[in-house]
Amino acid sequence: MSTKIRVTVWGEFVHEKKNEAVRKIYPEGMHNTIAKGLAGYKDLECRTATLPEPEHGLTEAVLANTDVLTWWGHVAHGDVQDAVVERVKRHVLEGMGLIVLHSGHYSKIFRALMGTNCSLKWREADEKERIWNVASGHPITEGIGDYFELPFEEMYGERFDIPEPDKLIFISWFEGGEVFRSGACWDRGHGRVFYFRPGHEAYPTYHNETVIKVIANACRWARRRVTIPDKCPNSPALETIKKKDQTFGRAGIVQ
Ligand code: ZN
Repeated sequence: MSTKIRVTVWGEFVHEKKNEAVRKIYPEGMHNTIAKGLAGYKDLECRTATLPEPEHGLTEAVLANTDVLTWWGHVAHGDVQDAVVERVKRHVLEGMGLIVLHSGHYSKIFRALMGTNCSLKWREADEKERIWNVASGHPITEGIGDYFELPFEEMYGERFDIPEPDKLIFISWFEGGEVFRSGACWDRGHGRVFYFRPGHEAYPTYHNETVIKVIANACRWARRRVTIPDKCPNSPALETIKKKDQTFGRAGIVQ
């Protein structure tokens, strides 16, 4: 295993090509902005992958050499091939980390791993977002204060239809009054999953150093620690098992 954490930054890369306002904020695409921000952290080694590439850039070889995959998608969730979603899911269950960003809440991969609808309330109204750190001492909040603010963001509000997080990291407050569980951790199989809310395409959120710091911290937390392919073996006993009286044998049949 490489000593650096191998991060693959996946971007849908649709808004940036279709919408002039979004292109102005992210001329090279959001995935490249995120990857460049993360590359400022010397323990991270970043590559990117996008929807239009063959197999969405997420081949078996790419995933086998990825310690953490970050996922940003929105309008094209339905265009992600089911076979690729299955492949990503298998890699998470075997040990790869997954960081799901913003509108990735409704991606096939996040919903598959959560087992719930992952729906929420939303509003685009240029609101202030205050993101409260509720997990001081957790690796993902290292160097993050009690809270940080983004002057303009899309609102996401509760109820967020996710399973109870293993650990809640951030809660957001929005100018319009809603709150939202905006940073949350789960274990899935041998892998770790982190959802992080900010990042609407119409705002320069991924140019924000604190947002990138949280994602970098999350890459360290979620990094692959093991690779354990699934199996379900019949297992020989380690010790000699004493013969029992055969009142109840296999399948409960009286002998
Ligand atoms: Zn959005």
